[in-house]
Amino acid sequence: MLSPHQGNMLGIARKAILPFSLSLILAAALAFSLAISATFPLEVRAQTQTEDEQTQTQTQTQTEDEQTVTAIFNERLTTGEMYYLLEDLCKNIGPRLSGSEGAERAVAWAKEVMEGYGFDRVYLQEVMVPHWERGDPEQVRIVDVEGGMIELRALAIGGSVPTAQTGITAPVVVVHSLEEVEELGRDAIEGKIVFYNRAFDQTVIGTGAGYGGAVGQRAAGPSQAAKFGAVGVVIRSVASNFDDAPHTGGLRYLAAVERIPAAALGFQSADRLVRVLEEQPDARLFMHLSSKWHPDALSHNVIGEIRGSERPNEIILVGGHLDSWDVSEGAHDDGAGSVHAIGVLRTFMKLGIRPRHTIRAVLFMNEENGLRGGIKYAEVAKETGEKHLIALESDAGGFSPRGFGASVDDDVLERFRSWLPLFPQNTISYINKGGGGADIGPLRRETGTPTIGFIPDSQRAFDYHHAPTDVFEAVNRRELELGGASIATLIYLIDKYGLKDEMAQ
Ligand SMILES: [Zn+2]
Repeated sequence: MLSPHQGNMLGIARKAILPFSLSLILAAALAFSLAISATFPLEVRAQTQTEDEQTQTQTQTQTEDEQTVTAIFNERLTTGEMYYLLEDLCKNIGPRLSGSEGAERAVAWAKEVMEGYGFDRVYLQEVMVPHWERGDPEQVRIVDVEGGMIELRALAIGGSVPTAQTGITAPVVVVHSLEEVEELGRDAIEGKIVFYNRAFDQTVIGTGAGYGGAVGQRAAGPSQAAKFGAVGVVIRSVASNFDDAPHTGGLRYLAAVERIPAAALGFQSADRLVRVLEEQPDARLFMHLSSKWHPDALSHNVIGEIRGSERPNEIILVGGHLDSWDVSEGAHDDGAGSVHAIGVLRTFMKLGIRPRHTIRAVLFMNEENGLRGGIKYAEVAKETGEKHLIALESDAGGFSPRGFGASVDDDVLERFRSWLPLFPQNTISYINKGGGGADIGPLRRETGTPTIGFIPDSQRAFDYHHAPTDVFEAVNRRELELGGASIATLIYLIDKYGLKDEMAQ
């Protein structure tokens, strides 16, 4: 397929022919048609003509595409409508961890918003979700230290069991990896609180990789420490910021290992603990967590769609997750993705873009501590045999758009890349091979649906991720809307041109 740039060049070449005089053209045409009848069999001539027509169509279409893309960006940047929708979600619903009252209010809110926009179909998909509550504010302090005690800022890691009601007090052993716990062994670990002090690697430019390099201590650290007799765990928050806001997140207890309480410390609190332990290795840590596990609760994925005009049974999914951690408004994670998804349908309707395929916005429940919404959605899609052309997720924040990652065949990737010149001012400057999102991963695994992940700028993402600072004020209106416009543009192009030539699909 031609890139728009190549297409434009052909367009210019065609226009350059026009100044020729009529007689010259007629003479040339006559000579050419005589020559072509003599030289080529009929099929080849037919093919030549078709290619010529195609070129003409493409030239016209690209102009149309440029106009549509401009209209999408203009609509978003002038109205800021999704930004104000995000404000409503953050300020009037707020935190919405699965199983909480906030999550149920968010479900009702999302359904009402989509119905209010007049989408063709809006419905809820039932899903049972885990229900964990943080309880009273966490207390973590260094005790037995000269001059009294030092309070540290901490958050229970999501899913942590509570401490005893009176708290626990124990000596601390500092480690930097899961392997180090094993190397130290039971003699060094038993009866202690293990402090995982692995820092976010500041030298990694893409912060997702920095996060990935350190998140193991949060997810797997507690069970690893418990295997060797630890009574509790604290970690340095897996985050890129240097303030003292602690960052929560999920953990995974191993079934056969005792469940011990675990908390994440703010960056400066972790530094403070390191300094104290250097001078007074016998200093002890006090922890009090009052978290609680409840039985699974009924919740919902919220789904809205515009029915396709030509291929209504082929779905293009655009999604984000509606749940958030309990300590923040979940503005970037993933209120931004939620309004990005709704915004694609909203913008299409406002601009009168009638999609060929069914465009479906899915706001998944429970990405943060269970992924039950994504798993349920994939199960239902498999059972009902629904065909998804492709699924895109936005779950990397409402920051300036940069690119997409796409888990698609190479020829499809090339087609996507040929559209890059249509994104104004390099709003989207690359499309990587490989990408998706946590919620659409099960759909890919269960049904083979290709997936795309939206990639915004990552430099501030892990300053806010899972922290109390992830609030509406941390989102910039233009950046959020540019991201939404970029996603809407890609969905528009996929809907119009498909993944492959349709005869081959
Ligand atoms: Zn998220």
